[in-house]
Amino acid sequence: MAHQGFDLSGRAALVTGGNGGIGLGMARGLAKAGANIAIAARDEAKMAAARTELESFGVKVITIAFDAGDRDSIHACVDKAAPDLGQLDILVVNAGINIRKMPQDFAPEEWQQVMDVNLNGPFFIAQAIHPHFKKAGGGKIITIGSMASIFGLPFSSPYASTKGGIVQMTRVLATAWASDNIQANAILPGWIDTALTQQARRDVDGLHDRVVNRTPAGRWGEADDFEGIAVFLASPASDFVTGSAIPVCGGYSIMAG
Ligand code: NDP
Repeated sequence: MAHQGFDLSGRAALVTGGNGGIGLGMARGLAKAGANIAIAARDEAKMAAARTELESFGVKVITIAFDAGDRDSIHACVDKAAPDLGQLDILVVNAGINIRKMPQDFAPEEWQQVMDVNLNGPFFIAQAIHPHFKKAGGGKIITIGSMASIFGLPFSSPYASTKGGIVQMTRVLATAWASDNIQANAILPGWIDTALTQQARRDVDGLHDRVVNRTPAGRWGEADDFEGIAVFLASPASDFVTGSAIPVCGGYSIMAG
């Protein structure tokens, strides 16, 4: 039997980008722990497949087509998720994009696009969900940073800027809303095998081996590696954990050289 502290039965989670990759890994963990799930993303076919999979764990699952970088779409998403699931207790802000080029080569629109999806959207969705968490008597916010929250990466100026910013935003929300019984924490993934990095591995010679050699665990991460941390940060087990940024990186962030 699951420890009471990790049980999410009767809770409701909104997971942005929950239709694939790390987002689906986290949604899977939450659904296995008993939470009902709203998946919000763009690709309807991927959302339908994710819904079928998550429903097999016996929870209610809804899908919402939305644009993570658009404020009206964000508000419409929260306005649909709350009544459809009856409440909202958990927000996983996971949707994210990367555009890779040297800083001098970025067009203003490219910089803006990454800011909108990775940093502005997460702030506005947290704002939109705050009244629902207050109504529920508390809530859990899980944001997704990166090793780029810690290290400089030459090809990722807007991405790394948003991933540094999201850690600081998470700390702000943790302090501002502690009195509403809301805990906010960031997860910092290492190098994880998803659609986002499959392209990078095709483009960057030797990347696959460099990551394996630089990671003490000796492998790339998988989406499944995020089930446990999502359940911990969404559950009463983490009620005294807030404002933290937790690497899930196989030791990449503490490896010298
Ligand atoms: P994926 O490309 O597999 O997932 C990205 C998700 O974000 C998709 O579900 C996608 O939905 C969604 N998304 C992107 N843009 C939008 C948008 N405008 N509106 C709505 N949804 C959108 O990559 P990952 O699973 O790897 O990435 C998930 C998070 O993890 C990101 O924040 C990423 O920065 C972070 N991360 C990933 C790392 C890795 O090594 N993979 C390392 C560190 C951080 P759709 O399919 O509908 O487009």
